[in-house]
Amino acid sequence: MPDRAPDRAPATSGGEKGLAQASRGGEVERSAGRSAAPAPAGRRSLLPAPGQGFGVTFAQIFRKVTTEEYPEVPKVTKPRYHGRHVLNRHPDGLEKCVGCELCAWACPADAIYVEGGDNTEDARFSPGERYGRVYQINYLRCIFCGLCIEACPTRSLTMSNDFELADDNRRDLIYTKEQLMAPLLPGMESPPHPMRLGEDEKDYYLAATQRGETP
Ligand code: SF4
Ligand code: SF4
Repeated sequence: MPDRAPDRAPATSGGEKGLAQASRGGEVERSAGRSAAPAPAGRRSLLPAPGQGFGVTFAQIFRKVTTEEYPEVPKVTKPRYHGRHVLNRHPDGLEKCVGCELCAWACPADAIYVEGGDNTEDARFSPGERYGRVYQINYLRCIFCGLCIEACPTRSLTMSNDFELADDNRRDLIYTKEQLMAPLLPGMESPPHPMRLGEDEKDYYLAATQRGETP
């Protein structure tokens, strides 16, 4: 019986076939991409290319300079700019912070560390039962989102417009309570001292609402 001549190309293995198909497919895609590419735009200017390039430079020379002269000329931020934090005081000098740690829990960057302490009649730092004994903000972590000041129930924590927070070492960018406390204004007394604005915490709350503050 004579051998039958093969009527098709010799069979290839599955892997080779796949490679061949993939290679053909890539070729089709590449050729499709070539045909879809836009034709390069023609140069409209009569100037040679270097002349056009320097034209951009010369046009900039006569425009208004927008360089900030910082730090010689201090930058004025928008009034609601989120800068360095401040721990505020009541009008008699007592601290508004009650050491509740809500700001620390609200912080997405874990930048705040608070340890509360108990007020006593001999050593009172805030009108409530507790005060912020240790308070730290790590400005290497803070992203100035303002969630901590939203979380604060006593409006103790607010943010100033101060943005000058650069330093050359990590330790100095962890701000302590002493650095964050608002300064003593005229009429304020440095804690600890007894409550001057009323008998208890409620008097401070009512006084704040009468002044139009959100306590
Ligand atoms: S501003 Fe945002 S990131 Fe910074 S301490 Fe407050 S909650 Fe944390
Ligand atoms: S700053 Fe406000 S939220 Fe944070 S511990 Fe003090 S009272 Fe609580």
